[in-house]
Amino acid sequence: RFEAVLITRDEEKNQSAAFVEMTEDELMEGDVTVAVEATTVNYKDGLAITGKAPVVRRFPMIPGIDFAGTVTRSTHADWKEGDKVILNGWGVGETHYGAYAAKARVSGDWLVPLPEGMSPLQAMAVGTAGYTAMLCVMALERHGITPDRGSVIVTGAAGGVGSVAIALLAGLGYEVAASTGRPSEEAYLKDLGASEIIPREELSGPARPVGKERWAGGIDAVGSHTLANVLSMTCYGGAVAACGLAQGMDLPASVAPFILRGVSLLGIDSVMAPKALRLEAWRRIAGELDHAKLAALSSTIVFRDVLDAAENIVAGRVRGRLVVEM
Ligand code: NAP
Repeated sequence: RFEAVLITRDEEKNQSAAFVEMTEDELMEGDVTVAVEATTVNYKDGLAITGKAPVVRRFPMIPGIDFAGTVTRSTHADWKEGDKVILNGWGVGETHYGAYAAKARVSGDWLVPLPEGMSPLQAMAVGTAGYTAMLCVMALERHGITPDRGSVIVTGAAGGVGSVAIALLAGLGYEVAASTGRPSEEAYLKDLGASEIIPREELSGPARPVGKERWAGGIDAVGSHTLANVLSMTCYGGAVAACGLAQGMDLPASVAPFILRGVSLLGIDSVMAPKALRLEAWRRIAGELDHAKLAALSSTIVFRDVLDAAENIVAGRVRGRLVVEM
């Protein structure tokens, strides 16, 4: 028997999350069973547990969208007992039982190998948020946004995606502008590699069609007016990778940046990203993300604290990344 978090829903469709005891037989279908050694709390996990957004699409559900651990059983050709693996997304924690349990059973097609030189705890310090930050960096690169083109703005800077994005961009030689609603985190953001702090309020109100050209690129975890403002101040030919909705799912923007400045909006999804892209992202994270910065931007909590952490991340009270040691 092992401990798991289970989200259930009553007849009035009110959901609640609690710790329960489960057995391996109760897990869902899959050809690989993994002993979960580490997981994490992403913004989406916070939404799932608090029920603030309809992340969970099947009840009951074990939440948790990513884990790292060791294969204990496999009938999948790619994996054998003892292999160290990572899982991010694929509907795990949404439609398929997820990471907040000591054991997980999933499709072997969803797994990627834990990169050489990374521990399960380090992989989860990166987690979906950090792997998505790398997908954003890769998208900007594909669009030709190199460090010599100008600075890159990161919104939601003190959050998980934001913190990892700053560390990655700075490591690659980009000048980074960090937009945050937490001025007290200026020293933290500068230590990660930001050279300029932009107060959140500067970007969170209604945007003009185009404004002063300020950055060559952007990584936006916030959406809504913030993304509209980022687009309006992106330099000619620049690009913005959009991955988040911390301010809102809406996009009250104008087409002016696209048609007057040739700015591109690059959509980033981590959940259904193809395997080749995931392998490339994790290979680069392992090789390029400074381990000292990763340690500085993450903190470790115990499994029993995930429900509180879920409340905190949705309330914007979490700095950087939260790792859960199982
Ligand atoms: P997080 O750690 O909570 O970071 C979000 C940050 O956004 C907060 O730390 C805060 O940064 C800022 N923020 C919060 N509320 C805001 C508001 N009302 N207005 C403006 N800024 C606000 O979350 P995360 O795990 O990094 O995820 C960030 C976003 O990316 C989420 O929306 C998540 O759903 C999304 N995401 C998407 C994918 C994908 O596949 N597309 C993958 C991972 C994450 P400051 O305190 O610095 O202002």
